[in-house]
Parts: sequence; C-alpha cells; structure tokens
Amino acid sequence: MSTVAAISTPLAAGGIGMIRISGENAINIAAQCFRPVSGKAVSDMRGYTAAYGTFYDEAGEIDDGVLLVYRAPKSYTGENVAELSCHGGIFLLQKVLRRVLQLGAETAAPGEFTKRAFLNGKMDLSQAESVMNLISAQGEQALSAARATLRGAVSREADAVCRTLIEADAALAAWADYPDEDIPAVENKSLEATLSDCRQRLQTLIGAYDRGKAVTAGVNTVICGKPNVGKSTLMNLLSGCERSIVTPVAGTTRDVVEETVRVGNILLHLSDTAGIRQTNDTVEKIGVQRAKEKADDAALILLVLDASRPLDEEDRAMLADTAGKRRIAILNKSDLPAALSPDDLKAEVDRCLVISARHSEEALPVLQEALEEVLGTAGLDFNQTLLASERQRDCCENALQSVTRALKALDAGMTVDAVTVDIDCAVEALLTLTGQRAGEAVVNAVFEKFCVGK
Ligand code: GDP
Repeated sequence: MSTVAAISTPLAAGGIGMIRISGENAINIAAQCFRPVSGKAVSDMRGYTAAYGTFYDEAGEIDDGVLLVYRAPKSYTGENVAELSCHGGIFLLQKVLRRVLQLGAETAAPGEFTKRAFLNGKMDLSQAESVMNLISAQGEQALSAARATLRGAVSREADAVCRTLIEADAALAAWADYPDEDIPAVENKSLEATLSDCRQRLQTLIGAYDRGKAVTAGVNTVICGKPNVGKSTLMNLLSGCERSIVTPVAGTTRDVVEETVRVGNILLHLSDTAGIRQTNDTVEKIGVQRAKEKADDAALILLVLDASRPLDEEDRAMLADTAGKRRIAILNKSDLPAALSPDDLKAEVDRCLVISARHSEEALPVLQEALEEVLGTAGLDFNQTLLASERQRDCCENALQSVTRALKALDAGMTVDAVTVDIDCAVEALLTLTGQRAGEAVVNAVFEKFCVGK
C-alpha cells in the first residue's frame, strides 16, 4: 500500500499543528525533511519515541518541532507512522505537507488512516464508525456511547448473535441430508428458542439506538403554532441565551429559524417556523411553504398554543396538519387566566404540558421531563451497547427481518433449506455490520464520511 500524508489537526491557526504520514516509507520520508538536534539518525529511532529538531525543505529550515515515530504494526494504522508536530500555522503546515508530498507521500483521502487501521485488522467497521462519533460527540453521554462502541461493545454483541446463528445453522446441517424432511419437533423447539432469543437481542439493539439517537445525533424538531403564541420566546428559552444563537436561515423574520440546542441530555435540531397559516402575501407564502416542509420532515413537533385563549380554527388546522406526527402540545402563557386545559388536547397529542415560556426556571424542567418521556431516553445506559450509525442499524434491521422470516418458516413447518436460507441472510447482515464480510462499496461509504487526517 502507498504511503499517505495529511494535516491531522484542523486547518486553522493554533498552538500546534500535526502532519501524519502512514505507510512503509513514512519514516524514510520523515528522515528527509526532519533533522533531530541530537544529531541522531531518524532511521534509528525506535517505535514510540520522539525527537526534537527542525523541519526543512530544499530552500532551508521551515520550522522547529517534534517528530514522533511508530513502527508497524504498533501504530494507529498498523503501518509505520511518523507524526510531525510544528507550530500551528496554516501556511506553515501546508509547507511541511508539501515537502512530505514531494518526497513521495500521496495525499490521504478522508478517513484514510482509520480505513487502513480497519484493513490492517486494528479495529472492525463498527469500531471505526465510532471514531467519528467520538469526534462529533456533543455531550457526556454521546461520548460514553462512542467510547463503548470503540472498545468493541457493538462488535461483541453482533458477534455473539452471529455465532449463535451459525451454531443453529450447523445444527440444521445435520438434517441437510434429508432435504425434504421437516425439522423434528424436538429440534424445532430448541431452534425456535434460539432464534427468538436472537430476535430479542436484535430488537434491543435497534430500540436502544432509536432512543439513543435523541442524545447522540439529535432529533429534528419543529416549533410551530400561530403568531404570538410564544414560539420565539420558547426558542430563546431553549437556546438558553436570548437571540444570540438564533440564526435566520434566510433574510426574513418570516422564514424558518434553526438552532441545535441541548435540553438535559437530549439534542434538538430546532426549527422555529413562520407559523403554518393561510396568507396572500408572497414572501410569507414562501415562509409558510418552508414551514410545512420542515414540519413534514420533523421527527418531533412542539406545537405551541396560547393557554389564555380557547382553541380557534387556526389552532385546529395546525393540529390537523401535524396529525400522525410525534407531538408535544405546549400550552403557553400559564401565568395568564386559563382558557385552555390539557384535557382539551390529551387525546390528540403524545404529551401535553402547561408552561410559561417567560419563566424559564420553572418551564425548563417540565419541558425536559416531557422530552425524555416522549423520546424514551430516560433510563438509557450510554455505557452499554449502542449502535454507532444508521448503517449499523440497517444491518441489524436486515438481520432481524431474516430471523423473523426464519421463525415464520419454522412455524409453518417448512423444510430445513427454507429456514437455513433466512439464517444465512441474517449472518451475512451481521458480518456486514462488523465489516468481516463488507464489500468495498460499503467500506468506502463508511470512510467517505470521515474528515481528512483521521
Ligand atoms: P411568536 O410569534 O409565536 O414567536 O411569539 P413570541 O415569542 O414573539 O411572543 C408573543 C408575545 O407573547 C410576546 O409579547 C411575548 O412576550 C409574549 N409571551 C411569550 N410567552 C409568554 C408567557 O409565558 N406569558 C405571557 N404572559 N406572555 C408571553
């Protein structure tokens, strides 16, 4: 495999910047652009050692800094690795990188270092995916989940289910000599128990991921309600800081305003909409259209109503428009005499709460509790097994469907072959999850999402 290099620190001015080189020639290349002050040869440096010295090119000295050497297979990628740390100037880093490329390294693609770690058996695909989650984690629990996956929690569970299915397959093979035979009753019972157990474990993985997503990836949430009910006040309350973080997407206040906020552990990708209502104003019509699209895409709707006024036609239209969605009705302005009670709405929404958005200290805990309840995050243990990506969820879903089909085939008294085909499909899906049998396209798709230098 070729030797590749990239700037691994952000492309911005900083105290220190680091260029990573990985591949057979990594240390040779470092030896040609770095001179240790000790006078020692870079080629003699042992793995896990560092040297202070100067980086140089044909024109002379570029900067002083530190070279760290790792020797294969004991490195992140499993290859020879040289890490060149210099002062964190963009121009400076690019100059050192240019020299490294001149000396024969190729530019590393996004995620290439981690991809090499995967290809060299340093980690499996589910662990590799958690590396990006670790980098993008925006809270303690998202971090815990990513770390658990990196340590192999998902891989172990997927492997365990996979092994059980392979054993079931092997037991079935005993009957394969009689392809037209039904599975004997005794075998049938134990096989059914095994498959049911696998189904349960897969369901648990998927369920925890779906609930955990509210914490790790965030929930697309739309705040809607007619004008003046308190949407902006609620948005500001959730943002925790008046106006400052609220960013208009386009130049009109009638348009959609978006912000990501954290309420307790839950991450909400919030959109405050212009209010879905009939209008003849052209600009406002565009805003209303966008609001409708947002609401259609949302995974959660916060429907704000003015509790000091009875439900009117516009409120009802909005309730009808968002029917079928996961909704929390927020009866706002509870400090004013009430004209609306939760009983009026209970049947229509998942949760109904009464707050005064003006009084954030009392309103926030009420909101947080309702969110945790509706999104099901209460009681989730983020140190446990949590799938790290939509891709992993798809693999589990495919495995689950195959196991379910196998159970149905068993129940219907189908032949050994029919059951085996479905179990094999489930095994295949789980091997794709960990990357033991993932095609090149799958692997490439995983690493394309990475940043350059990781
Ligand atoms: P939006 O048009 O839905 O975004 O509503 P705003 O957030 O701009 O609020 C409309 C008006 O209602 C403003 O004058 C707010 O100060 C007021 N308001 C918002 N929340 C409350 C509340 O909890 N109690 C009372 N009394 N007024 C509120």
